[in-house]
Amino acid sequence: MWTVATLADGLARLGLTAGDTVLVRASLRRLGDVAGHRATALIKATLAVVGSRGTLAALAFNPLTPFPAWRNSPVIGPDTPPGSGGLAAAMVRWPGAVRSQHPTCSWVAIGANAGALTAGHDASSASFHPVGALLEADGVLVNVGNVIDSPGFSTVHWVQSRRGLSTRNLLAGRIGARFPGGVFHSHDFPGCSQGFDKFYGAYVQAGALRAGMVGDAYAILGRARELVAVEDRLVSANPRFPLCDAPDCMHCRGLVTYNKRDWPAFWSRWAWRKLTGR
Ligand SMILES: [Zn+2]
Repeated sequence: MWTVATLADGLARLGLTAGDTVLVRASLRRLGDVAGHRATALIKATLAVVGSRGTLAALAFNPLTPFPAWRNSPVIGPDTPPGSGGLAAAMVRWPGAVRSQHPTCSWVAIGANAGALTAGHDASSASFHPVGALLEADGVLVNVGNVIDSPGFSTVHWVQSRRGLSTRNLLAGRIGARFPGGVFHSHDFPGCSQGFDKFYGAYVQAGALRAGMVGDAYAILGRARELVAVEDRLVSANPRFPLCDAPDCMHCRGLVTYNKRDWPAFWSRWAWRKLTGR
């Protein structure tokens, strides 16, 4: 049975230290048998390690819907829980938590740097804008239990955005969500991250990746600046590097305008399936 103390021990062995600003993504069930509520225990464990000068952040996203299908999507209200997992859902309810103002890609943060991390992240800014503040803070990223099935680090989306790739797809400006005050159109679309595990080998070669166990979960940690240095080198050499390999991935095969070479095969297969119902 894992406790706050033993989970904190795992995070510290991974390389998390006092004063760190850390973005955590987690597959909570992979923690295994935890005393009490898994999300609460992971939040307490992380805050215990980073201490009063540190900050814990998570992605508190709302679902995006392509237009015009948004007409049938639910209205997202101020009390709608984020759709990006149990950690974010617990963090937005945490006393003193700060949530950024971006309508669909907000971050939630707890701790000394929470205000700076979430500042300026609103409807007019890029979806992964807070990665800039994470870099400023020399922050770290930790993935717990999701290393394989939700691979990679959110810094890749920031690199893609800085290189103008997040708007180079057919859904940018045509995707969004409904709110009581109206419809939000996202001008960028970060898209598929299933290919972000392709960076793992390069992180290891650069000495930028640490791995360990947090509870029963395999976990990895990287410092944002070191991750971005690796990612920027590979993405600048080949913008298609982060794309996944799934033949049916609409984002990677049929939407991004810097991979048009895959469009004929993807869209002909898509049309055939629509016609035949297969
Ligand atoms: Zn993909």
